Amino acid sequence: MKYVSTRGTGETVSFAEACLAGLAPDGGLFTPVEYPQIAPAAPGETYNALATRILSAFAGDTISEAKMGELVAAAYDSFAHQSVTPLNQVGPDRWILELHHGPTLAFKDVAMQIIARIYDHLLSERGERLTVLCATSGDTGGAAAAAFAGLSSVDVFILHPFGRISPVQRQFMTSTGADNIHNFALDGDFDDSQDIVKSLFRDETFRKDVRLSGVNSINWTRIAAQSVYFAAAQGALGHERALRFVVPTGNFGDALAAYVAARCGLLNGLEIVTAVNSNRTMVDLLETGRLSRRSAVSTHSPAMDIALPSNAERLLFEVMGRDPAQLKSFYDRFIQSGEAELSEQAKGALGCTGVKAVTIDDAETETEMKRLYKETGSLQCPHTAVGSAAARQVATDSVDVILSTAHAAKFPETVSEITGFTPALPERSEAWLERGEVFERMPCDLHQVREAIRSRVSG
Ligand SMILES: *Cc1c(COP(=O)(O)O)cnc(C)c1O
Repeated sequence: MKYVSTRGTGETVSFAEACLAGLAPDGGLFTPVEYPQIAPAAPGETYNALATRILSAFAGDTISEAKMGELVAAAYDSFAHQSVTPLNQVGPDRWILELHHGPTLAFKDVAMQIIARIYDHLLSERGERLTVLCATSGDTGGAAAAAFAGLSSVDVFILHPFGRISPVQRQFMTSTGADNIHNFALDGDFDDSQDIVKSLFRDETFRKDVRLSGVNSINWTRIAAQSVYFAAAQGALGHERALRFVVPTGNFGDALAAYVAARCGLLNGLEIVTAVNSNRTMVDLLETGRLSRRSAVSTHSPAMDIALPSNAERLLFEVMGRDPAQLKSFYDRFIQSGEAELSEQAKGALGCTGVKAVTIDDAETETEMKRLYKETGSLQCPHTAVGSAAARQVATDSVDVILSTAHAAKFPETVSEITGFTPALPERSEAWLERGEVFERMPCDLHQVREAIRSRVSG
């Protein structure tokens, strides 16, 4: 299995290279040369067996299927539910796919737990060491800290926007106590942090000096690992049923994973609703074919306060007929003028992907959280509520599967303010949050962040 960059020259790299690099050196995103065709979930197949098959298809001959099976078992042992990503019925033909049973209570654990083990395996095989850099809108950082803590092959640097994530989110990443996890709190929003990460990846000297790697959803391995739960949900609900996946979206990683699962033959058809909060870039892109620069606005669903969804690039690569030159010129135009428009042909292709987008504002999120509590007696996190509200807005003949991207207890302030009830933190998480926090506050300054990383890596 080989990978190409969405902005590259067509040169291919192996799974190991794509995985360990994260972002491609030319600023593009790695994507498989072609989608492997994978048999859908078999009746009674366990999550781990399915994950092993799917990840092995993407890894090709880089990792043996037996080894992948061991890594998968170790990764998902850390989950509190034996089905890893169980389905919970919330209405006739409406299901919630619970992705928050991992150690940091958000869906980011599903991919990060396996990525850390794949990294450790590949790096110890090669006798190498890497620096992982990630920007987080709240949950990626915690998941990365939990997954990589204590690994001797990797130093992890996590940039989060100061004051813009929930205290529980922050505590998960700042309280590992591990020497190889470094947290920087930047004065800015998530897009500013993401820009710094992207600039550092473009800085060739720095990239090579510290052996930089990325585990944001720009890393293909995350998309591959996330495609598993869509396949598992289809298997559990039956292959004869058409499903519509409603995906609370920020960087468009999870929604892209659904698209990939469909392209690999794991789903019965493809119907995706990208549910966004007031950060409506995806809605505009899908409706008008234009990508416009905006600044992120703060909402009740902070993990989705993202103005430029990085993974849209992978979908646009497909609708441009996988033409890297066309994609590169589209993004060059966007960077120069703050706006770029798709060709008529690409717009047509985008309209045929089966991907729709719906925007839900804070007032609608509040109404939905209260309504879900009344209808089911359970509290849902605001991100999940954005998905659920979006599902109600657009009718379908399919069975709705709404992704629950985080546990309500990760956002206790918002949930209790809106519903009047404080969600209980699962017992397994309590110990985490009693430990001391370590993070450094820093201006959103490329030079300063770069030098801080350099000194800590060499030190
Ligand atoms: C990361 C995150 C999202 C957004 O997922 P993307 O893959 O970035 O679109 C939604 N909800 C929660 C709770 C998250 O942590």
